[in-house]
Amino acid sequence: MRFAVLGSGSRGNATLIECDGTRVLLDCGFPLRELEQRLAAVDVHPSELSAVVVTHEHGDHVAGVPRLAARYGLEVWASPGTWKAACKGAAKRAGADTLPRLRLFPSHARRLRIGALALRPIPVPHDAREPCQFVFEGDGRRFGVLTDAGTVTPRMCDALRECDALMLEANHDPELLRLGPYPPSLQRRVGGAFGHLSNAQAAVLLDRVLHPGLRRVLLSHLSQQNNRPDLALAAVRAVCSDLEPGVADQDQGSGWIDV
Ligand SMILES: [Zn+2]
Ligand SMILES: [Zn+2]
Repeated sequence: MRFAVLGSGSRGNATLIECDGTRVLLDCGFPLRELEQRLAAVDVHPSELSAVVVTHEHGDHVAGVPRLAARYGLEVWASPGTWKAACKGAAKRAGADTLPRLRLFPSHARRLRIGALALRPIPVPHDAREPCQFVFEGDGRRFGVLTDAGTVTPRMCDALRECDALMLEANHDPELLRLGPYPPSLQRRVGGAFGHLSNAQAAVLLDRVLHPGLRRVLLSHLSQQNNRPDLALAAVRAVCSDLEPGVADQDQGSGWIDV
């Protein structure tokens, strides 16, 4: 199994997970042309995707999904709450209500199967309708993705405990958030229990799930206003000095990383 982050941050998220010919795109917050370019950078054509899986209805994760799915006839997997929110109200996305191949799954489902990949949804505390993150299993390996969560929960720790590779949110440094450009209401939302994980919370989460088999840690969803890669890396290195964590960039992505 291997994965490639095509971009991560509040201006758009997409991550590709590949195992034995199955290619799942997790979220698509980019316009169609930009997604095509980001896929081309890792030598994948959109027609080679097996499915698109959506974590929640926020624009940085779902904005590009309807057009991508319609253009290439792709299956879209999402929780019922996520897709309801994407079709109605403030988070409504054009084309979301006419997808030809929509696959709904409960966020508390035990396991989903897409080709060679098994997916375990992890319900997370985030200010969305029915958000979840995932552990991907295939080829005897396990890759955990956890972004967009306001709190570290026992359930997410249990789910992420035996992964070979992890992609974890390290969204903000609380002091930079406090001093930064966000108005107080947005600061409270980002730093709140249904917002985003701080660098210190990412370190707590990593500390709780560390085990000798963990080989890769990639930090993601860093705020460009309220964080810096060196601060995020320093927080996490304090709990895993022997792993060399990386950072998924908003613009460059990560390239392929073996799980
Ligand atoms: Zn997000
Ligand atoms: Zn979100």
